[in-house]
Amino acid sequence: MANVSLAAATKTFDDDGDKIVAVDELDLDIRDGEFLVLVGPSGCGKSTTLRMVAGLESPSSGTITLGDEVINDKTPQERDIAMVFQSYALYPHMTVRGNMAFGLEESTDLSDAEITDRVDEAADILGITDLLDRKPGELSGGQQQRVALGRAIVRDPKVFLLDEPLANLDAKLRAEMRTELQQLQEDLDTTTIYVTHDQTEAMTMSDRIAILDGGELQQVGTPMECYHEPANVFVAGFIGEPSMNFFDVTNEGDVLVGEDFRYPVSDAAAAAVQGHDDLVLGIRPENIEIVEDPMADDVLPAVVDVVEPHGNENAVHLRFADQSGETRFTATVGGMRSLSGGQDVGVRFPEDALHLFDGHSGDALR
Ligand code: ATP
Repeated sequence: MANVSLAAATKTFDDDGDKIVAVDELDLDIRDGEFLVLVGPSGCGKSTTLRMVAGLESPSSGTITLGDEVINDKTPQERDIAMVFQSYALYPHMTVRGNMAFGLEESTDLSDAEITDRVDEAADILGITDLLDRKPGELSGGQQQRVALGRAIVRDPKVFLLDEPLANLDAKLRAEMRTELQQLQEDLDTTTIYVTHDQTEAMTMSDRIAILDGGELQQVGTPMECYHEPANVFVAGFIGEPSMNFFDVTNEGDVLVGEDFRYPVSDAAAAAVQGHDDLVLGIRPENIEIVEDPMADDVLPAVVDVVEPHGNENAVHLRFADQSGETRFTATVGGMRSLSGGQDVGVRFPEDALHLFDGHSGDALR
């Protein structure tokens, strides 16, 4: 079994006498064969977590288990884990074949023929057989990335660790490689931990996402769970593009009162937020309904500021009408919908699409 468990894994660094808690009591189980994406903003502790699993950093406290064996004290070579870095880290003077074979020659007692077979097989899987005699300098970024993956695959490890492997590629190639990598992981069925700060990669590639902020785990779940049932304001704002809209509101029984609007809620919603006076109301841009008539029933009158066309959909930036006009928000509508700046409209926030969070802790209430 190649499941990986982190139990209260903590890593602190000393920065000229200041203690930096890079990873804070992280509990996380990655299942055998799972593709888990670790995601979060810069500095949230993703790479440090991965490096602890790889054995490149030792935890300050807590345990890391592979299968049923605690691996805290094992060297990287003893862990049967292969890591792929953003920088590819290829040897420039060696051919592609040499780069892919190098780790095997160094750390295994496979025969030359067995190593050749493994390299040929990995090259075939990755579609780089034609490149085996070239040097890294003669390859495109995407090809170098495949070689870096090939070097991990030939080792047939229990676990793959990938640290922002697509970050150096252009947007089109990144999108292609996303699909390829996902397919590859499915075919190889190797437990994979993948680090990125890109929520699109996290959403599209993973079986489950673990979202970190400030060294602390915010939520772990399938992409759809994190999207539809975010555990807190941080996750709600991090997952989804354009981001969820947030409004500070006070709870006045069955009415949520924002700076520029009043929103009557059902008994069920009122019950969910009972006892919480300050709230954050969240709604995703695609859940906001825009109607042309600002005087229609159940609408909040609003004004279109700017329409940003994205082809298949438009992002519509709005503000509430007739009020101080400070609260701005974004809705998405179909690309064929014609709305223009300055237009008066009505907006509806369907209650079943509302997210309500405690204003102090940020935790989801419904
Ligand atoms: P990024 O997306 O920018 O790579 P990250 O989420 O991978 O960020 P880490 O590299 O794990 O974040 O860093 C987490 C925190 O630990 C940061 O505040 C970072 O400055 C700090 N840190 C990481 N390595 C060290 C180190 N060797 N010495 C001191 N501080 C460190």
